[in-house]
Amino acid sequence: MRGGDRVATFMWNNQEHAEVYFAVPAMGAIVHPLNIRLFPEQVEYIADHAQDKVVIVDHTLVGTLASILPGSKAIEHVIVNGPADLSPLDGLGVEVHSYQELTANAPLSYAWPDIDENAPAAMCYTSGTTGGPKGVVYSHRSVYLHALASSLPDAFGLSERDLVLAIVPQFHVMAWGLPYAAFLTGASLAMPDRFLSPEPLAEFIQAVRPNKGAGVPTVWSGLLQYARRQPGTDLSSLQEAVVGGSAMPDSLMRAFAEEHGVTALQAWGMTEMSPLGTIARPPATAHGDTERTYRLTQGRFLAPVEAKIIDNTGAELPWDDASVGELLVRGPWITATYVGDGEPDPDKFDSGWLRTGDVGRISPDGYLTLTDRAKDVIKSGGEWISSVELENHLMGHPAVAEAAVVGVPDDRWGERPLAVVVAAPGHDVTTQELREFLSSHIARWQLPERWAFVTEVPRTSVGKFDKKELRRLHADGLLS
Ligand code: ADP
Repeated sequence: MRGGDRVATFMWNNQEHAEVYFAVPAMGAIVHPLNIRLFPEQVEYIADHAQDKVVIVDHTLVGTLASILPGSKAIEHVIVNGPADLSPLDGLGVEVHSYQELTANAPLSYAWPDIDENAPAAMCYTSGTTGGPKGVVYSHRSVYLHALASSLPDAFGLSERDLVLAIVPQFHVMAWGLPYAAFLTGASLAMPDRFLSPEPLAEFIQAVRPNKGAGVPTVWSGLLQYARRQPGTDLSSLQEAVVGGSAMPDSLMRAFAEEHGVTALQAWGMTEMSPLGTIARPPATAHGDTERTYRLTQGRFLAPVEAKIIDNTGAELPWDDASVGELLVRGPWITATYVGDGEPDPDKFDSGWLRTGDVGRISPDGYLTLTDRAKDVIKSGGEWISSVELENHLMGHPAVAEAAVVGVPDDRWGERPLAVVVAAPGHDVTTQELREFLSSHIARWQLPERWAFVTEVPRTSVGKFDKKELRRLHADGLLS
């Protein structure tokens, strides 16, 4: 191994995966968590693009890894964590090692190499929710600064007294940096490994009683639905649940507070940002409904993150909580380019600023409210409809478990909203009822005419509503 070599992981969230997060950068190599939920061709592309030389794989994932090895030509070594049937790796031209054997005889002391703080430590690829996956490298400096800032009391607020349930996968932007922040502060992590469906998660929470947790909204809402089906499920050890990756619906926040006494804390970020950009801790002066309003924003920017919103001519807009534009950010843990791009992509990087592709407004006291992703905004007859706003209102209806809204082509208006709804268990609901419900919250012209009722909204590899897939299903006539 040489400095700068890429060591990939193909693992669930577990102790060994956390060890690798430290061991690999500490020897001057780059740790690269691969997303185990992507299609094999995508993983193959990413591992090849990143030039991964070594892969550390959980025993339960050896078979899946074997299918991507033929196309990932840089991989020379596979290190297997735990007892596994190794036959799928036969004849694939890689040297196979055991994680336990390699570490069992290792000395307990270590001569730390002197590594430049700007040297690469870790890398991740975007999950490709709106486009192809793009690689981002994090330096030792950026990982350290991100861990410091994200641990602060008004950010994650981590301390040695915390036990944090890391549901967000380690391959999703380094589990939002939690392993590094936990190590820095002494907080403990509870890692669910592959047991991520609501039932084992609820059992895990009841057994280990974490006081904090972090995950995307769909994971928390799955847990909530499960707890409703299984009265007596006790989630009350969780004082705070960090919710990020997509917008947190008001209904989810209320339900967690009222049914389980759990406070939801919304955070916004991106792979390109290590990922944390904002966190929605209300000011101390906010109480009751005002406090909830603050919690439903994406939050306030962490100190070193600079932000601006611009209109479509590039002019900067005021922070008046009304002017809506594209959000640009820069700061010490925000990347200036993608892996392998000679010149920074001008669509994403603009004179040192990252163009986030998110659209929103900022209040005079610095709270960001995102209205949509630029690619998901529904452009109807020259006016914009926020898919997120429609979703949040719909999910506030008691008979709706989940709702995703996408723009679909329309001859007259260019695009119109299609609402895809999952009814709550035991509820029947009609389009007419939902339209009436929505009309008390939004303008009439924004009301969807197209509706589809499904049993589950398709998810991306990191658990977000998969709007690309919904648009494809609609184009193929599979959603009416
Ligand atoms: P991908 O782009 O593949 O989904 P990321 O996880 O990096 O990968 O996604 C970052 C994007 O997720 C942001 O640009 C934003 O659109 C969305 N996002 C993240 N957190 C939030 C949030 N709290 N509210 C709304 N959108 C969010």
